[in-house]
Amino acid sequence: MIIVMKPDASQSHIRKVVEVLEKNHLKAHLSKGKQLTIIGVIGDKSVLSEANLEAMDGVERLVPITESYKLSNKKFKPEPSVIKVKGFSIGGGRFSIVAGPCSVESREQLLKTARFLKTQGVCFLRGGAFKPRTSPYAFQGLGQQGLEYLKEAAEETGMAIVTEVTSMKTLEIAIDYADVFQIGARNMHSFELLKEVGKAGKPVVLKRGLSATIDEWLNAAEYIMREGNNRVILCERGIRTFETATRNTLDISAIPVIRNKSHLPVLIDPSHATGVRDYIVPLCKAAMAVGADGIMVEVHPAPSEALSDGAQSLDFEDFKKMLSELKPLAELCGKVMDR
Ligand code: PEP
Ligand code: MN
Repeated sequence: MIIVMKPDASQSHIRKVVEVLEKNHLKAHLSKGKQLTIIGVIGDKSVLSEANLEAMDGVERLVPITESYKLSNKKFKPEPSVIKVKGFSIGGGRFSIVAGPCSVESREQLLKTARFLKTQGVCFLRGGAFKPRTSPYAFQGLGQQGLEYLKEAAEETGMAIVTEVTSMKTLEIAIDYADVFQIGARNMHSFELLKEVGKAGKPVVLKRGLSATIDEWLNAAEYIMREGNNRVILCERGIRTFETATRNTLDISAIPVIRNKSHLPVLIDPSHATGVRDYIVPLCKAAMAVGADGIMVEVHPAPSEALSDGAQSLDFEDFKKMLSELKPLAELCGKVMDR
């Protein structure tokens, strides 16, 4: 349920409502917009008299929230969220770029990529140290050594590090290195892990599960947010369909659907969505046109030598070309790109 306060409700009206909620062991989440203050209520509402609440000074109306996700729900917080990381932000009219190799493979590979991306104005460096590979015989990542290289790259360039955690154990290791945790598609349903990243207090890029519905995805975000962490960035990375021309199918409609249902920012990942580098630029353009808050894209100094996902990685020239095509479009779409 949400409590919509009257436009002229005073601070004292708001405080009194919150006091009543807390006295009844309910959690109140305040969302102060330009026009209205909304108080989101979480907990067992059977203890409350809704009629009494509705009669309180400053209260305009009570609105039930029927969806199972609350904190990520746009009804709870109508204004789009802007997620701040290390002085950079995602959401709020920006078109952010998270870029870097699929896997951290060596110090040289990572630093070369980070230095290049820095020259292109990219603020978020991605790179996997713990790789959730389909085959146990495929390259599994450098582990903590990979995180050391990411840290070195961040110290040199000032970029924010986005890196995947796959378990409680890897979360504990990565906590000293990551600026943003990534929860991969395969772990979107790992609820215990979601709770732990919620408690860890760092921003989280939450990828959509391989065959998760949008409601399941928002419920996964809810698991993180319920632990007191509001800094969740959604990432649409393609879903499983019958189509085999691409690795997955980018659900472009998920972007306006999320916009409609949630205040959280949403990125697309055209690399994992397609598995084919040629499709990255057209899908980035589509994402920008439908209102995405940015992209996560794989970049490698020599994609043909990559230890994972080379076919869907851009080289430096392709990356520059992508930016040159996106920049004029950003202006048309009312988006600001980092420079
Ligand atoms: C990744 O971004 O490195 C990755 C493994 O992606 P996903 O979880 O979307 O497959
Ligand atoms: Mn990858």
